[in-house]
Amino acid sequence: MEHRNSTSLTSPLPLREAGALRNLGTVSHEFFHAYNTERIRAQGLEPFDFQRVNMSDALWFGEGFTQYYGELILRRAGYYDDEQFFEKVSSWVNARLNSPGARFTSPVEMSRQAAFTDAAVSIDPTNRNNTYLSYYVQGAGLALVLDLQLRQRYHTSLDKYMQAMWQEFGKPQTPALAPTKAYTVADLQRVLGTVAKDTAFAGSFFRRYIYGHEAPRFGENLATMGLAVVPVKALAAALPRQVEFDEEGRCILVRNTTIGSGLYKAGIDRGDQIMTLDGEKIDNMETLEGIMRKHTPADLVPVRVRNRAGQERAVQVVLTEDTNVQVQGMESVEKMTATAAQKEQRAAWLASAAK
Ligand SMILES: [Zn+2]
Repeated sequence: MEHRNSTSLTSPLPLREAGALRNLGTVSHEFFHAYNTERIRAQGLEPFDFQRVNMSDALWFGEGFTQYYGELILRRAGYYDDEQFFEKVSSWVNARLNSPGARFTSPVEMSRQAAFTDAAVSIDPTNRNNTYLSYYVQGAGLALVLDLQLRQRYHTSLDKYMQAMWQEFGKPQTPALAPTKAYTVADLQRVLGTVAKDTAFAGSFFRRYIYGHEAPRFGENLATMGLAVVPVKALAAALPRQVEFDEEGRCILVRNTTIGSGLYKAGIDRGDQIMTLDGEKIDNMETLEGIMRKHTPADLVPVRVRNRAGQERAVQVVLTEDTNVQVQGMESVEKMTATAAQKEQRAAWLASAAK
């Protein structure tokens, strides 16, 4: 948990090998909170009330920008290589582009749902998959796009923006180190206009992406760093990723199906059992993967399904391909090259500024 001068963490993960890096991810994020959220403080969180919900419009900044820096710092400090960092970038892009809810709901509105998602009740089964997108990943994606735009168009950076926020809102403190001035979303926009020296840009960014729900332009902004957004397009993995086999070998959907997917359109949802697919009994992962490999996207296959209430029915399901993308350096993509200028920009972005 984050504090103003420290962070204290309890983790069941080991401190060596793969576990160490995941622990470091938590350390990096939580320790950054000593700066962003504890010192640079949102007005909605003050004064903090342990009896009621403190509703905030700015968790896409408090949590999301912290998420972005938590990962970027690990790259800058050399704990991640480029590929590991781009995997995180890909996950933010995918989360936003695949979220049905984010097409209709702004980051400000997602932030207001915190009490239902970032709290004890968040483990309840709901249809939030289709209506909600976490302000952690959504905010990280916004921080990414904003950082790239500030670098490309204004020859400044998100680092400079955070420093400007620190000067105005973090630095003035009471003797007990509490912030004397909390920020609002309007303040976040104003400071962006000052740092970019372009208030029209700040206004348009907030109108479209913070108060509005336009999708950030990941592709064109990542391209300025010589990074390509490559569709995964794999069919084989799409369905197996959503199911688990219980001890009796029943193939059960463990995630909500997403609006637009073939399963969703066929009325199949979380908790349902896929009994047969394409005429074959499905009782293990190998069989399922084997059938998927024989097909191409848009194939129509017969499915026998038993729903949560125990009713069986036969439906036709259109197989949809994986809609995820992968962010990678243009130099490693066929028929693409990153220019020297793009590579230089990328190196400056990912390099540590510590002397
Ligand atoms: Zn956090």
